[in-house]
Amino acid sequence: MAIMITDECINCGACEPECPNTAIYEGGVEWTWGGGTNLKEVTLEDGTVVSATEKQAPVSDEFYYIVTAKCTECNGFH
Ligand code: SF4
Repeated sequence: MAIMITDECINCGACEPECPNTAIYEGGVEWTWGGGTNLKEVTLEDGTVVSATEKQAPVSDEFYYIVTAKCTECNGFH
């Protein structure tokens, strides 16, 4: 997915709780595949299996960011 938060972001945080895939994180916050769900592990496209609770490096230290690999463009939620 090619989703990104634009330069117009004012860091208000209103988008974060709206994402059904927990793909949006505050700048500087580590992300996880599970994002607070009961998901235990994830199989990546290359076949690698990773823990869903393992913390990943923030995509941005400054602004809210989207983990594009978790974004489905809300497909199936609306
Ligand atoms: S478009 Fe993607 S990042 Fe935005 S709310 Fe939907 S799933 Fe989450």
